[in-house]
Amino acid sequence: MKEEHELFHAFLIQQGQRFTAVRQKILDVVLQSSGPFTAQSLLPHIRIGNSGVDRASLYRNLKLLKQAGLIEELPEGDPSGAKCFILPRRTGRKYVLFCPGCHSEESFSDEQFDHAVLHLCRRFHLNPDSVLVKVEARHLRDGHPAEKEETPQ
Ligand SMILES: [Zn+2]
Repeated sequence: MKEEHELFHAFLIQQGQRFTAVRQKILDVVLQSSGPFTAQSLLPHIRIGNSGVDRASLYRNLKLLKQAGLIEELPEGDPSGAKCFILPRRTGRKYVLFCPGCHSEESFSDEQFDHAVLHLCRRFHLNPDSVLVKVEARHLRDGHPAEKEETPQ
């Protein structure tokens, strides 16, 4: 939850916008959703003090959340044809780190990386479930895992 707030905040700053109390509340309500949601279904739950948020503002903010990669729009909409959104699936996607120095391979998962991958997939029209990312990088000097001695050239 905290991470989503940081991501949205960073996105808004980049857009020259502020992370207002209304936006924080909208994000909180969105993050609590357990399935697909629409602006209509969120509206009654977004209250700041005694007042709600107006529909136009909610639409704008859902668009921003989508641009930030924090929600995804279902292409088919809901049964009435309204825009329908979901939280990105937590896939536990794995990535591979490879060091050409000691030839060690290590798999890792990273949520920030997931966001970047999903962003790239949207941008280049790729299937996120088919992505394999291999990061090739040398360990820092003396940083190779101790059990794997580098063979002298
Ligand atoms: Zn290494």
